[in-house]
Amino acid sequence: MRILIAEDDFTSRSILVGVLTKCGHETVATENGAEAWAAMQQPDAPRLAILDWVMPEMDGIEVCRHIRTLETDQPPYIIILTSKDEKADIVAGLEAGADDYLIKPYDPGELHARVNVGQRMIEIQAKLAEVRNALAHEATHDPLTGINNRRAILDGLANELSRARRNGRTVGIGMCDLDHFKQINDSYGHQAGDEVLCGFTRIIQDSLREYDLIGRYGGEEFLVVTPEFGGLMLERVYERLCERVAKSPIHTRAGDISITVSIGVSSGTGDDTVDALLNEVDTALYQAKKDGRNRVSYADPQIMED
Ligand code: GH3
Ligand code: MG
Ligand code: MG
Ligand code: MG
Repeated sequence: MRILIAEDDFTSRSILVGVLTKCGHETVATENGAEAWAAMQQPDAPRLAILDWVMPEMDGIEVCRHIRTLETDQPPYIIILTSKDEKADIVAGLEAGADDYLIKPYDPGELHARVNVGQRMIEIQAKLAEVRNALAHEATHDPLTGINNRRAILDGLANELSRARRNGRTVGIGMCDLDHFKQINDSYGHQAGDEVLCGFTRIIQDSLREYDLIGRYGGEEFLVVTPEFGGLMLERVYERLCERVAKSPIHTRAGDISITVSIGVSSGTGDDTVDALLNEVDTALYQAKKDGRNRVSYADPQIMED
């Protein structure tokens, strides 16, 4: 493990480096608190730090306090190593954010054991962070297609609307519903149907810009959010999606399957609510289905005339 050492005394520093290296650790040695603080702010900073208390520039307690202001889900493990041996010092060190406190002169075996405790804590923390990230991903993504799930795409739309409120721009929104999808399941099987849903997702993703959003709203319904599109541009975006889907057969284990999609489109401003826009695109989608499918229908026909 990489360990940061902050120790102003040359001899003590050399001995500490020697002890830790012998235990198989890699050391990053610094000579004062300011250097240590700078090193701990680097993106690849060591996860464990051993800080002397009395040092020039910035003392170990201050370094400790600074490190604890860093926003991270994996805070470093800090050991204060000092000759200050009053109970009040120990309390002050731990209250400044240190995880452990060791008094000089120290026993190398004890230091080794305490570093191992730190390493165990760091490993537990890393596992926790991993689980937390996985849970956060699961809570916001659709397991089949890997795109935003319903909750995440609705959150995304709400965010875009509040952004629109600030910058006065518009947000395009399209509800896409695969046409006669039930027939695809019936003819080719549910697994091929799943592959079609994934293939459809890829076609849309390949057609969108970086800041557009796509999410699975329900079974074979997808919501596409295109910020800062209005008027003719908005029309082109969704027409293009619709044409592209119709022209791109999807490869599945049951062979190539051609699909079409109907899209209900509306455009919102900062004054609109998510619910109102969803109602608009639902109505427009219903119209697109009624008009024969494989087409785009607009909630506000003016969008096409602008
Ligand atoms: P329309 O053109 O009117 O939209 O017809 P449709 O057949 O697409 O619509 P309907 O609502 O009747 O059927 C949707 C089908 O989508 C029924 C359901 O079994 C299927 N479906 C929903 N979620 C999934 C899924 O995760 N995988 C698969 N394979 N099918 C799904
Ligand atoms: Mg010192
Ligand atoms: Mg549907
Ligand atoms: Mg459908």
